[in-house]
Amino acid sequence: MSESRIFLSPPHMSGKEWKYLKEAFDTNWIAPLGPNVDAFEKEIAEKVGARGAVALSSGTAAIHLALSLLHIQKGDTVFCSTLTFVASANPILYQGAEPVFIDSEPVSWNMSPRALEKAFQASVIEGKLPKAVIVVNLYGQSSKMEEIIEICNRYEVPMIEDAAESLGTIYKGRASGTFGKFGIYSFNGNKILTTSGGGVLISDDVEELDKARFLATQARDPAPHYQHSTMGFNYRLSNLLAGVGRAQLEVLEERVAARRMIFETYKNKLNEFPDIHFMEELTDTHSNRWLSTFTINEGAGVKVKNILEALNRENIEARPVWKPLHLQPLFHKAKYFAHKKGEHIAESLFKTGICLPSGSSLTEVEQQRVIQCIKDVMVHFNSKRVDYKFLEYEV
Ligand SMILES: *Cc1c(COP(=O)(O)O)cnc(C)c1O
Repeated sequence: MSESRIFLSPPHMSGKEWKYLKEAFDTNWIAPLGPNVDAFEKEIAEKVGARGAVALSSGTAAIHLALSLLHIQKGDTVFCSTLTFVASANPILYQGAEPVFIDSEPVSWNMSPRALEKAFQASVIEGKLPKAVIVVNLYGQSSKMEEIIEICNRYEVPMIEDAAESLGTIYKGRASGTFGKFGIYSFNGNKILTTSGGGVLISDDVEELDKARFLATQARDPAPHYQHSTMGFNYRLSNLLAGVGRAQLEVLEERVAARRMIFETYKNKLNEFPDIHFMEELTDTHSNRWLSTFTINEGAGVKVKNILEALNRENIEARPVWKPLHLQPLFHKAKYFAHKKGEHIAESLFKTGICLPSGSSLTEVEQQRVIQCIKDVMVHFNSKRVDYKFLEYEV
């Protein structure tokens, strides 16, 4: 492997981060909190059109605080998208509650309103509604929010929007992440913007956000000595990293444009293969296209495994789509509702989906390497349909 590695979604610094870091060093605002944290919260809230934001150490911490603020506890259930990263659901376990997983629908790949409705109906029959619904927007694509909100409102259950992957996405004229009682963003190293590690909780309920700040700083009562009447956490973002976040926020629109361009290029260059289907864009949305993803026809000679192996041989990082959480050993006891009887959308996306290198710093030459490698493997498998290799991979 002579050529340099192409990563899935590496950090992309703008260069302006230094300015904020230097300011913090010059004024010795190194310790948690400080002017960058306040400014970062204000700037991100303004950018997405929320009334407030709390800067935190991770997106996972933001989900955990949202669940804490909604008083989710042992014995409660929480509905959650099944096709997602484990971080969406782990905080349900932190609270001692039980997740119930909801399948995807085929257009957005995100939560199926139909499966959600079925899950609610079952919970009514059981006499136990969930305490919250966590809706995830995967790979930058918004969920069908209008339908989902209508259902959640009808059952009067609050929604938490996990927009870790969809910062910068617009759905029906509004920023992704702003549709629930709470929304969360992640600034982990692989996200569209990064502070190396970090997260943000947003809401229009500023009182609840003040409570989140209180809980995130060890829940210190207002007393000159250290007094505590509630269990808290150490979840705040440092003033240094908030400075990095401020510089990153300035280039959000550029990053979205770059990722969208990368997606378009993949799509245009690979559309000669009818077995490849790129993720559609939901109508009335402008996705940030965090990761360019496509599926392979289940009946095609080439399998996900073949493409991933070929890319890996070329020193290119690519990944299967998230493994649905209801298939994870960790959640083997959890309930799950399918999109339709016998139609398990998340499972089939997992079997057939691939995420391609999509970082906003990906060069044209690098992208061409990825495209050429996929073309080669497609041609190889299609031209040798009855080749022994084909038979070997058919499981
Ligand atoms: C990255 C991610 C998270 C977690 O964010 P961290 O900042 O890494 O804790 C949560 N949900 C989804 C869908 C993610 O992709």
